Amino acid sequence: MQELILVDLDRTLFDTESWHQALSAAMSGETPNGPDDLIDYPPKSFLYPDAESFISKFDFTIFTYGEESWQRIKIKVSKLTHEVLFAETEDKTKLIELMMGSGKYSRVVLIDDKLKNFKGYEKLPNATGFLVDRRRRFINDRMPSNVTRIESLEEITSL
Ligand SMILES: [Mg+2]
Repeated sequence: MQELILVDLDRTLFDTESWHQALSAAMSGETPNGPDDLIDYPPKSFLYPDAESFISKFDFTIFTYGEESWQRIKIKVSKLTHEVLFAETEDKTKLIELMMGSGKYSRVVLIDDKLKNFKGYEKLPNATGFLVDRRRRFINDRMPSNVTRIESLEEITSL
């Protein structure tokens, strides 16, 4: 059986705020060819620096919620070639439960920046999670017993 490593995109690997700023600048005519410049020749990487080293170290599937065409643009801009799973509801735990129910996977790891995405997570057998808390918003929150709060992806040295 396989191990399933699922990594969220927005604010986990991808700096969504910087992207929105660059996109709104491009849309308001601050770049020669508008948003196309940003998509085809991104002026910088919108991946967090710690995400770049994480990506080079681990194999994983991107597990994202959001409008599929926009998510695909962010993935393209980031030059990510990973398999992508689009969550159709925001309840990621439920989807993971369904995937685990198939019997195909022996273990699952979820890495995500939203605490609510780990709701009910401790009930999943063979599941481990990392909450990426870059802005230390969840420092006083109780974590599910199988979830570790981290402030940088560099804190994950083995999976
Ligand atoms: Mg996110």
